Amino acid sequence: MEKTYLMVKPDGVQRGLIGEIVSRFERKGLKLVAAKLMNVSLERAEQHYAEHKGKDFYDMLLKFITAGPVFAMVWEGDQAVGLCRALIGKTNALEAAPGTIRSDFAIHTNFNLIHGSDSHDSAEREISIFFSEEELVSYDKVIQVWI
Ligand code: ADP
Ligand code: MG
Repeated sequence: MEKTYLMVKPDGVQRGLIGEIVSRFERKGLKLVAAKLMNVSLERAEQHYAEHKGKDFYDMLLKFITAGPVFAMVWEGDQAVGLCRALIGKTNALEAAPGTIRSDFAIHTNFNLIHGSDSHDSAEREISIFFSEEELVSYDKVIQVWI
């Protein structure tokens, strides 16, 4: 089983889309193992987006992600990283396939509602930035055997 880090960004929280977004991963059959509403400190934001440091949108990105609360989550499942990225859709709202979260709800690339880890390694790194070990809940999901 693989874990991935997902985060409804401040635009998604402000637009009241937490429930809509969470329900898509629930319906897919993935297992929620951690979740919390939180403000992202500048320090955490810099850690999380370290790979984008120096890019022209970096400052705007930090300002955006620290502008209001985010809904941070860890989801688990077979190929969870790739599956979640597929449900989220491409970064550019114009390229996101219909039916994906970004296609259905986002107009702009910079305000694109949700973050999802892009690899197994990034997932481990990002989970450790936002969650402590004891915040990850380990439990059996009975229905999982049918998925
Ligand atoms: P993704 O979130 O799909 O993994 P990236 O890791 O490439 O995308 O970028 C991180 C975030 O930075 C994006 O989700 C988006 O909020 C922002 N971003 C990326 N590219 C641009 C851009 N060209 N202009 C403005 N914001 C951008
Ligand atoms: Mg990324």
